[in-house]
Amino acid sequence: MYDVKSWKAEEFISDEEIRETLAYADENRGNVELIDAILAKAKERKGLTHREASVLLACELPEKIAEIYALAEQIKKDFYGNRIVLFAPLYLSNYCVNGCVYCPYHLKNKHIARKKLTQEEIAAEVTALQDMGHKRLAIEAGEDPVNNPIEYILECIDTIYGIRHKNGAIRRVNVNIAATTVENYRRLHDAGIGTYILFQETYHRESYEKLHPTGPKHDYAYHTEAMDRAMEGGIDDVGLGVLFGLEMYRYEFAGLLMHAEHLEAVHGVGPHTISVPRVKRADDIDPAQFDNGISDEVFAKICALIRISVPYTGMIISTRESQAVRERVLPLGVSQISGASRTSVGGYASDEPEEITSAQFDVSDQRSLDEVVNWLIKLGYLPSFCTACYREGRTGDRFMALCKNMQILNCCQPNALMTLKEYLEDYAGEETKKIGMELIERELEKIPNPKVRKTACEHIHDIGGGRRDFRF
Ligand code: SAM
Repeated sequence: MYDVKSWKAEEFISDEEIRETLAYADENRGNVELIDAILAKAKERKGLTHREASVLLACELPEKIAEIYALAEQIKKDFYGNRIVLFAPLYLSNYCVNGCVYCPYHLKNKHIARKKLTQEEIAAEVTALQDMGHKRLAIEAGEDPVNNPIEYILECIDTIYGIRHKNGAIRRVNVNIAATTVENYRRLHDAGIGTYILFQETYHRESYEKLHPTGPKHDYAYHTEAMDRAMEGGIDDVGLGVLFGLEMYRYEFAGLLMHAEHLEAVHGVGPHTISVPRVKRADDIDPAQFDNGISDEVFAKICALIRISVPYTGMIISTRESQAVRERVLPLGVSQISGASRTSVGGYASDEPEEITSAQFDVSDQRSLDEVVNWLIKLGYLPSFCTACYREGRTGDRFMALCKNMQILNCCQPNALMTLKEYLEDYAGEETKKIGMELIERELEKIPNPKVRKTACEHIHDIGGGRRDFRF
């Protein structure tokens, strides 16, 4: 039944294969010889299969877990350096016809405030986001063919790209909307989106159907095969994710890696990013009603294992997680985080009263973007607002090639420094500006290619003089 190359959900995410994988992982959880062989393979930085990674997830030997963490940190440094890319979600509309039991946007929720942004309201949101310093957004919307048809989403994307406020600009719009048709994916591609993100929520079919009892999202196969349609429609950067807490995490982890293997096998390019959201408290949602919640320690182990299993795939942590948890998992392989997020519709331009919220879930990390940038710098990271790869056409396998050839230091590093310099000039508080400028001086030295280093120095100087938007 299991066929990584099949286009049928039940064949590339075969339940039987996942169950056998979990049994194999249980049998071998203490098999030091096998675990050492898997770790040796991971050290070659070529990734792991879902079976191999599942053995490591099941393993509880403290010295082996320490090795997993150390390796994840090393791979993160080798592939991504100390860069952390920043973005913000932008909620367009919370009208939704689905019945997802973990999401307050579900159709039966008559208590939540329903909102849909007009193009004028989008302009106000984007202006507020630009004023913080954001350059990269992830747009979010409920599924509602009448209120939020694809034409509305496309119009919003157009509006977002068109807004110029002071030195601000949104240079990359990632899209997180419900599974749709090849034709609609083609239209999103043609609108110039960055990554198409769709969380699987759970790979466990039976649970999936119970958790999505009504609405178009109920169709497990249509949802699970969405990334294949997106790629058929020309989108080659897709982002996977599981909503941890809904089902057994070991099942989800195996399914997630099988999905990545499937995309690689069929389309020649794996997922661009993997997100690891956990269920949060929301309007009429209590996370305690789901009995598969995972501890912070298991969460960290999952992040580390994703890093060593798919070294070329970016990993995203949102403000669902607290500052402390974010700090714990950043070194284990995270490459992107959101900052200063609002999950309400229209929440950037105006606050809404607590009793009539439109928010999707409670945000744990509520700091401003300047506080997040300041914190990253103090922890030794390089905050980046870079959007260059996609704008230079380095998507899909062309981005992967850059990663695999370890050209990141000659490309992403200078781009990160130049976009950080823009942020410091235009938006940073005094202290952030000071420590940021010192960081740029230090990091410029690390660019290996002398020609690239020299050009980057010149551009950074020119940004100080008022010029913007340089990129390699
Ligand atoms: N409606 C689209 C869809 O069906 O994919 C867009 C996604 S929704 C705006 C973004 C994601 O938020 C969902 O895919 C889900 O994983 C996550 N989410 C929903 N309810 C949540 C909750 N209570 N806590 C944390 N994340 C939640």
